[in-house]
Amino acid sequence: MIVAQTLGEIAKYVTPGVTTKTLNKVAEEFIRDNGAIPTFKGFPNHYGSPFPASICTSINEEVVHGIPSDIILKEGDIVSIDCGALKNGFCGDSAYTFCVGEVSEEIRTLLKVTKQALYLGIQTAVPGKRLGDIGYAIQQCCENHSYGVVREFVGHGIGKDMHEDPQVPNYGKRGSGIVIKKGLCIAIEPMITLGSRQIIMESDGWTVRTKDRKCAAHFEHTIAVCDDRANILSSFEFIENVLGDKAI
Ligand code: MG
Ligand code: MG
Repeated sequence: MIVAQTLGEIAKYVTPGVTTKTLNKVAEEFIRDNGAIPTFKGFPNHYGSPFPASICTSINEEVVHGIPSDIILKEGDIVSIDCGALKNGFCGDSAYTFCVGEVSEEIRTLLKVTKQALYLGIQTAVPGKRLGDIGYAIQQCCENHSYGVVREFVGHGIGKDMHEDPQVPNYGKRGSGIVIKKGLCIAIEPMITLGSRQIIMESDGWTVRTKDRKCAAHFEHTIAVCDDRANILSSFEFIENVLGDKAI
């Protein structure tokens, strides 16, 4: 829940004129003030270089893993904030794509559909279904809107470590993959693009952006599979309380 509260705190500051570095500062202080540890900070990439901040801030065509900087958010931008924290021995991981001021209807729809796809995936995470059913539900929803579903980055198991097995793709075939059982804890996180699903890695070794530079959205919840449904351990409630009727 600490990640949910942190995203709610960040929501207060996402406005034209703010830098993503400021959002990172807000997040890190909030996480530490609440007795938790930001798990992204120091997390190594493929080359072993540590992530320098406590949240990922990915603007517009950036899909995931954007590094907070002095770049100023402006009216009409979107910014995906991904937050991970460790508290009482367990990790939480959640992401939300925010609108900065007023955003075009085309992009708002991308965000709405991505969030909807996340919840469809969560509804599918019940005992007896398979991991491929989650991916299938997300993929169908997004491709029906002609959006791109990023393949190279996926959801994951989560628990004492931030990233555990299994991988949870946002695409898949019905009836494929491992059977979902009670007690499974995973992060489901569709990364969805307005145009082509092709991505490239920026030279900083972290920031992933769309090749065609069209916008991308990212929504993520940490969930635990119970007897007949998935319990959402993170929450967008804190964000939505701040955004009110401007929420997606
Ligand atoms: Mg995340
Ligand atoms: Mg994650």
